[in-house]
Amino acid sequence: MPVHVVWEITLACNLKCGHCGSRAGKRRANELSTLECLDVVRQLAAAGTREITLIGGEAYLRRDWLEIAAEIARLGMHCGLQTGARGLTRERIEAAYAAGVRAIGVSVDGLRDLHDRLRGVPGSHDQAIRAIRDISDVGIEPGVNTQINALSMPQLPLIFDEITAAGAKYWQVQLTVAMGNAVDNSAMLLQPHQIIDVVDNLAELYHRGRDIGFRVLPGNSIGYFGRHEPHWRSLSSEITHWEGCTAGETTLGLEADGTIKSCPSLPKSHYAGGESRSVSIDEALRNLSHRTVRRDGNRGRSFCGSCYYWNTCRGGCTWVSHVLESRRGDNPYCYYRATTLARRGLREKIVKVADAPDEPFAVGRFKVRLERADGSIAPRSIGLDDKRRKRGRLILCPSCDEYMSSAERQCPHCGAAKDTKPAVDETLQRAVQMSIDEMERHGRRILEIAGLPGAETSSPE
Ligand code: SF4
Ligand code: SF4
Repeated sequence: MPVHVVWEITLACNLKCGHCGSRAGKRRANELSTLECLDVVRQLAAAGTREITLIGGEAYLRRDWLEIAAEIARLGMHCGLQTGARGLTRERIEAAYAAGVRAIGVSVDGLRDLHDRLRGVPGSHDQAIRAIRDISDVGIEPGVNTQINALSMPQLPLIFDEITAAGAKYWQVQLTVAMGNAVDNSAMLLQPHQIIDVVDNLAELYHRGRDIGFRVLPGNSIGYFGRHEPHWRSLSSEITHWEGCTAGETTLGLEADGTIKSCPSLPKSHYAGGESRSVSIDEALRNLSHRTVRRDGNRGRSFCGSCYYWNTCRGGCTWVSHVLESRRGDNPYCYYRATTLARRGLREKIVKVADAPDEPFAVGRFKVRLERADGSIAPRSIGLDDKRRKRGRLILCPSCDEYMSSAERQCPHCGAAKDTKPAVDETLQRAVQMSIDEMERHGRRILEIAGLPGAETSSPE
C-alpha cells in the first residue's frame, strides 16, 4: 500500500541549487495535465495512500497546484508541501491553508551566506526564514529540511538555533546524496567516516530539541543503529529502530511526466513501475513488487553483506547506495559500520570515477575505498563485520543502548546477559519522559488552538 507518496508535480524551479539531485530548473516537456493529475490523486486515494507531499522543482510554480492539493485533502489524505520558499508569499501560504495543505517543510541549508551560495540565489535564505514565520502565523505546522554536507555540517548547531527561533516545529535532516548537481560538486559530499560526527552531533541536538518540544527527525539517509538508535528513530514515543528501505512497499514517488517510481529520490532507469498515462497505480505497484529490498534477492556486499543487522536493514537507504555503484546492498554512510571499522583503525572514503549525465536524477560512479589510519588502502577482507548474524527480532540490550537479536544469550556489543536486570531502567525512564513531553506538547497545542491562556506558561522552558 503506497501510504506515503512524494510527488514532483513540476520540475520548474526558481532556485539553482548546487546539490539538486533532480537538476530542477525548467519544467518537463510532457508534464501531466490538471485532469491527469486529478485522476492520479483519485487512484492514490483508492490504493490506500494517507499522505501526499508535493515537491518540485517548486510545486507552487504550477498554476493548478492548489486544485491538486484541494483534491488530495477532499479525499481525506494529508497534503504537505516541501519548498525552497523563494516565492512562497504570505498570500500563497494562506491559499495553501485554504486548499487543505497542513504541513510545509522549508529548505534551510545553512546560515545566510552558505544557504544563498548553495541555493544559487542571493536573498533566498531570508525568504526561507520569513516563510517559516508566515507558515506558523497562518496556522500550518512549519518544518525545516536541511541537507548535511561538508559545508553545512559545521553549522548544524547554529541552524538549529536559527530555525527554532523562527518557529519551526520539526527538522528533517538528511545527507546530500551523490546525485545530479551534487555529483558535479562532489567536493561538498561527506566522506562516509564523517557519519560518526554527524550522528553524534545530531543526537545531541535531538535531545536539546526534545527539551523544548522541537523534533529532530533523522532522514532515511542518516544511518543506522549504534547507541543513538533507540532515542530518535520513532515519530511517536515508542522506542523503535530503523526497519529498512520501504521503496515500492509503503513509499512511492511520482515524476511530473507521470513516471511512477518506488521512491521519489531514485532514478527511473532502475526503479520505475510505469507511467500513469499508460498504467494504473495498481499495475505500477505490481510491477515494482519484486524490486523491493525484501524481495529482490540482494544478499549485500562488503560490510553490509556481513552485517549483524542485515536481515532488518538490508543496506539502509537504497538511494544512498545506488548512486555510488548503481546497485544497492552496500552503504558506507552507516553509523554502525563506520564505528565498527573505526574501532579497528579503519575508515571508508568515496572517490568519484565518473561524472553524471546532464539529466534529472542522474547518477555518476564512485569507488568506496577502505583505508587504514595512515591513508594506505586496506583489503576489503579486513573490513567485514565479525559479529555473527542471528535470526530473531531485534531487542534492546538491557545494559547498553544497542540492539541485539532476541536469539542471543549475551549482547554481542557489551557482553551482558540478555536477562540482566538494569540497575536503573533507563529505557523505561526515557519512554516515560518522552510520553510526558508529548502530552505537554499536545496540551499546549490544544490551548493555542482554543485561544486559551496557558499555552506559553506550561512550556518546559
Ligand atoms: S552496515 Fe549496512 S546492513 Fe549493516 S546496519 Fe549499516 S547499512 Fe545496514
Ligand atoms: S530509497 Fe531511501 S529515501 Fe527512498 S524509500 Fe528507500 S530509504 Fe527511503
